[in-house]
Amino acid sequence: MLEIDGSQGEGGGQVLRGALALALATATPFAIRRIRAKRSKPGLLRQHLTCVEAARAVSGATVTGAKLGSTELTFAPGPLVPGAYRFDIGSAGSTMLVAQAVLPALLAQGGAWSLELIGGTHNPSAPSYEFFTRTLAPVLGRMGAPVSATLHLAGFYPVGGGRVQIEVAAGERRRPLALRERGAITGRHAIAAVARMPATVAEREVATATRLLGWPREVGSAVELPSPGPGNTVTLVVEAERVTEVFTGHLDRGVGAEDLAREVARECAAYLASVAPVGEYLADQLLVPMALGGGGSFVTVEPSLHTRTQVDVIRAFLGVEVALTAQGDGTWLATVPPRG
Ligand code: ATP
Repeated sequence: MLEIDGSQGEGGGQVLRGALALALATATPFAIRRIRAKRSKPGLLRQHLTCVEAARAVSGATVTGAKLGSTELTFAPGPLVPGAYRFDIGSAGSTMLVAQAVLPALLAQGGAWSLELIGGTHNPSAPSYEFFTRTLAPVLGRMGAPVSATLHLAGFYPVGGGRVQIEVAAGERRRPLALRERGAITGRHAIAAVARMPATVAEREVATATRLLGWPREVGSAVELPSPGPGNTVTLVVEAERVTEVFTGHLDRGVGAEDLAREVARECAAYLASVAPVGEYLADQLLVPMALGGGGSFVTVEPSLHTRTQVDVIRAFLGVEVALTAQGDGTWLATVPPRG
């Protein structure tokens, strides 16, 4: 059984999610210890436990140690069984991160899959629904993996209860990715969304973000999202010929609407100032699907610890080396070998 150290690198939930996806796709049993050892509350939270449950359900895996707070578990997958599945996190934990734990393997398997996920859809430190549909899914599509998602209800911390449906069409998924340039910018959007909060909050955010970025006011929209609980999120979208990047922030206690808009605008401006097509978050999320598919390469910003940690987890399961090379102009080239 492969031994994975959950405290390696970034030492959070992503080590577990990467390991689950790689184990499912390669039918490799593994044991993981020191799960989320570098977090203030180590061990499995509801989101991580749902990741394990989802991976177990789609493969009939034999699992030990999967309970809340657990810092170690073993996971021995069976064959993947395509079909329709429903997973309820039971908290505001991120549905998009549950998808991250299983989707790369489902894509590699080649069958038709339908996932209904209940929980958070707009979480801090996680891909938002908009990031998933506008940024990640189109790139997966170019790798030959047809993925689509529908938001039925938004879920915010602390109430959760969001509902998203992800569909994967059957097909061959081994097209290598080549994403070296952004191409010309073709569209910009500033979207502020509120649920069970005054619409004026969203209007103030749109005004601040567009002003700071020098974008025309017409690219901004203030929208209301149906959700069981209150929430507010700012989404900035940069569409270019070859990639769309999404920057998101969520209103938290003690943070003003203008402060939130300013922070997301700053992140978006930093991306616009670089020529790299692939931002920090997309980079770490592409490596496992690429390694399980046709490989390829992309140009990105300086790799995060999350990205470097994914490289280590991929090496442990597949025995291949993902190369991250500085290009001397502030950008980095990531090269992923195709699955052997
Ligand atoms: P913990 O670190 O507490 O275990 P976790 O399991 O929620 O937390 P991480 O291991 O930190 O999560 O992984 C976060 C994932 O979310 C990474 O894949 C990262 O790329 C993604 N992510 C974080 N912030 C954003 C963002 N603003 N937009 C898109 N993706 C994001």
